[in-house]
Amino acid sequence: MGYARPAGNVKISDTFQGHRNRKPASTEPGTDYGCAYGTTLVAAGDGVVVDVQTTTAGADGRRVTIDLYDGRRVSYIHLSVALVRVGQTVTRGQAVARSGASANGKEWGVGAHVHTTLWAKHAYTWGRDATLDFELFVGDAVAIAFQQVVADRQNFLNVAQGEKLVVDGRFGDFTKAAIQRYQTYLKGRGWYSGDIDGDWGPATQAAHDKRYAEWAAPHAAPAPQFHNATVDDIASLPNKRGLQKVADLYLGRNEKTGLDNDWGPRSRKGLQAFLNQNYGGSLVAWLRAKWGYVGNEQWGPVMAAAATRADTANWRAL
Ligand SMILES: [Zn+2]
Repeated sequence: MGYARPAGNVKISDTFQGHRNRKPASTEPGTDYGCAYGTTLVAAGDGVVVDVQTTTAGADGRRVTIDLYDGRRVSYIHLSVALVRVGQTVTRGQAVARSGASANGKEWGVGAHVHTTLWAKHAYTWGRDATLDFELFVGDAVAIAFQQVVADRQNFLNVAQGEKLVVDGRFGDFTKAAIQRYQTYLKGRGWYSGDIDGDWGPATQAAHDKRYAEWAAPHAAPAPQFHNATVDDIASLPNKRGLQKVADLYLGRNEKTGLDNDWGPRSRKGLQAFLNQNYGGSLVAWLRAKWGYVGNEQWGPVMAAAATRADTANWRAL
């Protein structure tokens, strides 16, 4: 669930970006909600009150700050009264203060509104880029969904691409630059052909999906380089008429190989019959016993040479 706005859906009198665009820029950019003096203000989310300033001194006047359980910090300033004390736990929507206009030592130091500041961590930091846009985190489903998407991408870029982004769901310059680097990476590997614009749009998403689809695809096991020899391997020899002569002797009375140098089913059947009768069915055993083969059971150049010797000799002899 997103954050609760402090005073409901009142008018925004100055946006987060408006604060950042000031010259000089606000050192605590936040969202100004215009509301009548004394409006009840509620907690953005569940958390613990960590700071209450009860005087009108300083540019901020009265302040209530809550460390939210989600890790962020929210602060409300220019208050007329704080309704909580430091150390108190609060829940989302609970009244924590009433709005005012306090600042610069006066009850009416500024126009009536509540300035709401959001930080990514449980700490005060100051400067143009020190805070988050509270509006992007309020309980609007679309805004939250987008923030979540950006946060997920930031997390992904950190884990998979070695980036060091703050995972705040904010689409800022650092995130954009990291996405540009990722687009360059995808492009370099042929997955992406779009612009290196830092905008994770449909084309970038498609490239990202393609990358992971390839990674996830089962890789076919490489064909073994060698395998245990069988009579089928004779087919790869350039000449086998001599071996066909051997085969012919062991085929049935009316069967012939044809001595055509084509190692078909009859050639295989005949040679296998010879091997079954004399060498335990093993081509390798025959090549070892008679044709000088020394080696393992696997068909390779050395065994092929021995088989060629057998072929040549039997072509002459038979
Ligand atoms: Zn303000």
